[in-house]
Amino acid sequence: MTVPTGYRGRFAPSPTGDLHAGSLLAALGSWLFARRAAGRWLVRIEDVDRPREVAGAAVRQLAALRACGLQPDEPVQRQSEREQLYRAALEDLADRGLAFPCWCSRSDLAATGGIHRACVRAPDPDRMPAIRLRVADGTRIRFVDDVRGPQVQDVDAEVGDFVLFRADGLWAYQLAVVVDDAAQGIGHVVRGADLLDSTPRQILLQHALGLPTPGYAHLPLVTDAGGRKLSKSDAAHPFDPAAPLPAMRRAWAALGQSPLPDAGLHEPADWLALALAAFDPARIPTCD
Ligand code: GLU
Repeated sequence: MTVPTGYRGRFAPSPTGDLHAGSLLAALGSWLFARRAAGRWLVRIEDVDRPREVAGAAVRQLAALRACGLQPDEPVQRQSEREQLYRAALEDLADRGLAFPCWCSRSDLAATGGIHRACVRAPDPDRMPAIRLRVADGTRIRFVDDVRGPQVQDVDAEVGDFVLFRADGLWAYQLAVVVDDAAQGIGHVVRGADLLDSTPRQILLQHALGLPTPGYAHLPLVTDAGGRKLSKSDAAHPFDPAAPLPAMRRAWAALGQSPLPDAGLHEPADWLALALAAFDPARIPTCD
């Protein structure tokens, strides 16, 4: 396999609703970082969680990106078509004793705040187990976020042995995202800060699988007037593909960037060119 070189970034929406202010911010932010480095920008539809998928959402998200002039440089990948890669990674971990079947339920782990350190439930041949990654005692992951600076997490104490394959037969986000970022040669992950505390798990998995660790940059969360995180189903900020510029300007402002002299502009591509020339990552807010 040839390893791609140069900056490669991505936007990886889950098709659980339409593009909204928070996902547009991640799309625009990851695009700006990639283009500023004269790099490539990819889009991956993260549709492993089929029950949460909203019919038609992926197609509408891609249309919304197109309306914004945010065109991926390579064909869009879908996680639902990549299960073989996840299976191979899981088998590799299991063969090396790093992953194990677990019958513990959520309520079994209530006493430990949901943190799994040892199975409290015996194997049950009548039920499918989850498969967890074994997190060794004292596992501490440090990384330097390109926006937020040094980060540290005690993965054993704060997260515990985490799920790679769910008891309901679905691939866990943590495994799929790590396998895909490596397979697609992603060197830079730029995404919302809601995923900041997932990053140590992903780095741990990269170490376990012998995969490179990309750079990480976490962008501020877009909140509503009450300070609540916007979910993809939030109807208060519908995105209008026929007039994307107001939403793009709001995303630009949420990235902490100075207003652009864009009064006469109507074409998203022209606006993006102006934004790219003015983009200053040092202005991105480092807290939410
Ligand atoms: N699919 C995730 C989401 O839509 C993002 C995953 C990522 O960027 O790593 O929240």
